[in-house]
Amino acid sequence: MIKCLPIAILMFLTTGLMAGNPDFRTPSKTSRFFIEITTQGTFVSFIDLFSKGKYSASFIEINSDKTRNYLISNSSIFSLTLKGDTFSFANFRCGIIDIKDNVIAYLDKAFLQKIFFIFHRIGFRPRITDAMRTTQNQTKYKRRGWSNMEISPHLVGLAVDLVIYSASDREIIKKLSEKLGLKFLYHGGGGNRHIHLQDERHWSDIQKSDIRLVSDSLNTFLKSLNGREEIQEIDSLKQGQNFIYNFITEKFSGIFFNIEDIYGEKAAEINTGLFEPGNYNIRINLDYLEKGFYKVNVFESGKFTVQKYFVKY
Ligand SMILES: [Zn+2]
Repeated sequence: MIKCLPIAILMFLTTGLMAGNPDFRTPSKTSRFFIEITTQGTFVSFIDLFSKGKYSASFIEINSDKTRNYLISNSSIFSLTLKGDTFSFANFRCGIIDIKDNVIAYLDKAFLQKIFFIFHRIGFRPRITDAMRTTQNQTKYKRRGWSNMEISPHLVGLAVDLVIYSASDREIIKKLSEKLGLKFLYHGGGGNRHIHLQDERHWSDIQKSDIRLVSDSLNTFLKSLNGREEIQEIDSLKQGQNFIYNFITEKFSGIFFNIEDIYGEKAAEINTGLFEPGNYNIRINLDYLEKGFYKVNVFESGKFTVQKYFVKY
């Protein structure tokens, strides 16, 4: 069969541009808290909400410690699927991370989880000097000899550049990178000496032919936002109905919760941050769900672990 031009199918999930967050009954500062992990660490959790089984909104929550927590709203998350590869980016310009002013502070969501995990271990000391790159900048960097590549993982938010760190921080970053499937490079001369981290596992996995198109789509989206991006500091979860999950892990893992209503329709999906071996207590706020009976399927490192139930009243 002859097919001339494969048609790129772009699927935009940016419902953030639509009015409000329909699933929040009371969009107050406290009720916006989705998940709380009562252990030391920095956890970046993804929350996808569904209404009668249909996707309605995405959020990302950063739990940095007991007092500093951030919520990245739907309007600051961008997803698109292109020829089977899905790209999801999120704004990460929050108060706990030092980012140079002119940096486009968007990274691939799963890469962001790994970066915050590393940053927590070194006390959030490094400064980010480059993250997402436009195709125009990549071309400029190549012309000036700063980069020898036509396409770079920076174009799709799969790389960051860091400066300001101690030699021991550098060693920790290097060790954790290996564990997380990241490529660690220490390069640039003089004042431009920096660490480049890229999500090698993901980068080697995606088709490279449309990288520039993905980057241009994100940058067009950012222009359309016109500064209406939203990332805000939120309070700890104090009230409301919670679902509590305790677990012990002996290996490095992530937890995924799939919440379904009585008819088996998806209500929410929560993908927690990365856990080191230890004992954990996770509280999930249920304020955004309608009244009813729910099932929670729990997966640890992608493997189904247990099914729990609760009634939302
Ligand atoms: Zn770089």
